[in-house]
Amino acid sequence: MLTVHAYAATAATNPLGPTTIERRELGPHDVLIEIKFCGICHSDIHHARSEWGSANYPVVPGHEIAGIVTQVGSKVTRHAVGDRVGVGCLVDSCGECANCRKGEEQHCLKGSTLTYGGIGKDGQLTQGGYSTHIVVTEDFVLKIPEGIGLDAAAPLLCAGITTYAPLRHWGAGPGKKVAVVGLGGLGHMAVKLAHAMGADVTVLSQSLNKKEDGLRLGADHYHATKDPETFKKLAGSFDLIVNTVSAKIDLDAYLSLLALDGALVNVGAPAEPLSVNVFSLLMPRRSFAGSLIGGIRQTQEMLNFCARHHIGADIEVIPASKINEAYERVLASDVRYRFVIDTATLK
Ligand code: NAP
Ligand code: ZN
Repeated sequence: MLTVHAYAATAATNPLGPTTIERRELGPHDVLIEIKFCGICHSDIHHARSEWGSANYPVVPGHEIAGIVTQVGSKVTRHAVGDRVGVGCLVDSCGECANCRKGEEQHCLKGSTLTYGGIGKDGQLTQGGYSTHIVVTEDFVLKIPEGIGLDAAAPLLCAGITTYAPLRHWGAGPGKKVAVVGLGGLGHMAVKLAHAMGADVTVLSQSLNKKEDGLRLGADHYHATKDPETFKKLAGSFDLIVNTVSAKIDLDAYLSLLALDGALVNVGAPAEPLSVNVFSLLMPRRSFAGSLIGGIRQTQEMLNFCARHHIGADIEVIPASKINEAYERVLASDVRYRFVIDTATLK
């Protein structure tokens, strides 16, 4: 067992604080990673605060992990000491079911193992990346290509793949009009990725406060959703809308912005149910769908795509002592555009 420094929530209403946790002994297929940076995803907040149902405490959040391999098990072939690597939301799956065989490990029929809040190979609660080291089976460790800094790469492991996957699945590209709702961690990645794929990109944000940033990130158009004129002006105009909002929104209003056969894809994961008037879907043959992170193969494809297009996240690197403050700023939509913890400050 390896005892490592970490930051944990001990109850839904407690701020996170410093602690130590145990990492399992390295098995033959395991990789020990010295974590250098870990992004703060809004899901960390939902989970640490038990917004999605009661969590098992202590919770060490963090599933946007970037670091360096420092040790490998005897049978590891995919990674070597010194490699720049990443770990996202998954650390294991059965590997045998139909969905795993398709490379959709996030939909493993036996239940994939989440990076935190799951049950690991050793039967213990998994603990995430707000820590100095992690042990992960080699198949769930991604390679971070040269050319992307580890700090800017960390958020790609969740925010990157969560937006890349639906953009690919619903065919974002030249000639397609894509709207991104919410310019936070996921939203800013969706803008960069959709732009790099060649789509015409619109940001739908609550206000125009971040308009300059949105255009710099690659958006062609930017509108405020608090202005009712926006919904009139843009009615029937998009092929794909990716909703990244962490709270409940009026789905019918957003569905009205879709063109024939358009799809509204929810990646935001608010705890409250969302309701839809079925007539919003009947006319004109619109779809409402969801999408959950992405499989390991596609995550590597996304990282390689980002390297080719010189894409990393726009980040604010913080010491561990600022994690609770960062949570408040995320909740106030005051993030530009991902907080990333420098794990050297955990020691
Ligand atoms: P974030 O950085 O907080 O971004 C969310 C953005 O939504 C905010 O920046 C804000 O953008 C907008 N927003 C927030 N509250 C709003 C409200 N009440 N009404 C309208 N707009 C609002 O969060 P994130 O890390 O990108 O995560 C977003 C959501 O995706 C979370 O629910 C998270 O759990 C979920 N998630 C899902 C997956 C998946 O696999 N599906 C993966 C990761 C995260 P503006 O200021 O521009 O309006
Ligand atoms: Zn996440």
